[in-house]
Amino acid sequence: MTGVVPQKPVLEGRDLTKHFHVGGFFSPTVVKAVQGSSLSLYPGYVVALVGESGSGKSTIIRMLARLYEPTSGEIYYEGEPVFHNSNHKRELDYRRKVQMIFQDPFSSLNPVKRVGYHLERPMILHHKMHKKEALRRSALELLQRVALTPPEEYIEKYPHQLSGGQRQRVAIARTLAVSPRVILADEPISMLDVSIRLDILNLMEALRRDMNIAFLYVTHDIASARYFADEINVMYAGYIVEKANSEELIQEPKHPYTQMLLSSVPDPHRGLRTGEGEVTGEIPDLTTLGKGCPFAPRCKHAMDVCQESMPPRTQLSETRWVRCYLY
Ligand code: SF4
Repeated sequence: MTGVVPQKPVLEGRDLTKHFHVGGFFSPTVVKAVQGSSLSLYPGYVVALVGESGSGKSTIIRMLARLYEPTSGEIYYEGEPVFHNSNHKRELDYRRKVQMIFQDPFSSLNPVKRVGYHLERPMILHHKMHKKEALRRSALELLQRVALTPPEEYIEKYPHQLSGGQRQRVAIARTLAVSPRVILADEPISMLDVSIRLDILNLMEALRRDMNIAFLYVTHDIASARYFADEINVMYAGYIVEKANSEELIQEPKHPYTQMLLSSVPDPHRGLRTGEGEVTGEIPDLTTLGKGCPFAPRCKHAMDVCQESMPPRTQLSETRWVRCYLY
């Protein structure tokens, strides 16, 4: 964590909305996956997006990675709008500068290609490097950087010859091969053994610090967000419902949903133990969302006004806001 909010964002999602049209001609249904959500990512700064599965966090990351086109809203890279019909060179440049790490490192690597191939290919495509020796040297340096040492031992291996943690390190090294400014990490540790999760978080922390990379860290685990992120955004049923710097949010959660998430996390500093609280109820059906606060059916503070309309953002300080009628 840096604790300092940098001034200029490198990547911004402004008022992003994504609706998926599902069902057939006779029973059209709209899944409102993300509703008017904004995020700013800064060099050397980690923003976490936290929520249960189905909250919309993976849809946001996929919009920023340009895998999904937003239904409405805009994406800005270094202050310039990113258009879906931008020319090939701009598109390629964006895809080089904004890289993604997936939850399952095994499925993101080609099982029949060796580690060296995965690292050298992006350098050929994006940096137009072709000299074999230079490519190999750079690939070995990347392995060193992600602590797969000695690198000569790993470069000829296939993905299935590596552990889950080693595969995720290769996936991270592959993103570094194109000198990214932003890394979008979608649940990057959730499929790994508990014993190596911290190692991967520490590796990403070193990249943030040493390479000034902006991170978006998507997770359902608020404790890991606290460990790694400078800022936490809590997401519920397609809406970002609370944003604050990590320590503020953990020490003094405002939104009832954030309070519920935190009450189930063991944390000796906050006097909480496992089982003291629990996450109860289920996230609502995104095809039948009403006009009110979507958390109302699970909220012990729900009032009449909560059924009427979605609460607006209430600014609590310069860097903190919440969407709840209690404030
Ligand atoms: Fe609960 Fe109402 Fe706040 Fe929603 S707006 S979280 S229902 S108090």
